[in-house]
Order: sequence, then C-alpha cells, then structure tokens
Amino acid sequence: MSTFLYCCESLRIACDATESPVIFNSKFREYGIKVLDGGTSYVEIAFCPWSGHRLPQSLRDEWFSRLEAQGLDPGIDPVPLEFQSERWYTTK
Ligand SMILES: [Zn+2]
Repeated sequence: MSTFLYCCESLRIACDATESPVIFNSKFREYGIKVLDGGTSYVEIAFCPWSGHRLPQSLRDEWFSRLEAQGLDPGIDPVPLEFQSERWYTTK
C-alpha cells in the first residue's frame, strides 16, 4: 500500500500548521479544507493546492474494513493506537 503523505513542502507545512485551513487526516489519509463552523468537518480535496499533484485516494473504507476484520466497531470499541494515525498503512 502506498505511504504517500505530502507531495511538496508547502502542503506539509500547511497541514502541520494549526491555524491553516488545510488539514491532513492521517488515519484516513485524507486531505481537505476545514469547514469553519467550529467543528472538525472538512471538505476533501483531490489535488494539492500548491503543486497541483493528484493526492492519493482516501483509505477511509479500508480503515473501517480492517477494524471490522478485527471484530472492532470504532463507534463502540476503543480504536487500536496504530489506527489512530498513519501507522497502520505506513509501517509493515
Ligand atoms: Zn503539493
């Protein structure tokens, strides 16, 4: 599985900055623009706003499938530590 995180330094800096409108949700490998409603919502983006590179596809469905395969319901059960970040798809 691809371990792509950032296509360029500009995207990495924007995702790391707390006051940036750009977000990287590492556990799902999703890149987005924050919805400024005080919550944690974001609109997923498919291309880097700086370099124009196509960003990798979300792993959200795979994340839920892997947990389900372990008999876990993330809405009820505690999520294993490696599934709370990019560790589940970057380490092997
Ligand atoms: Zn980029």
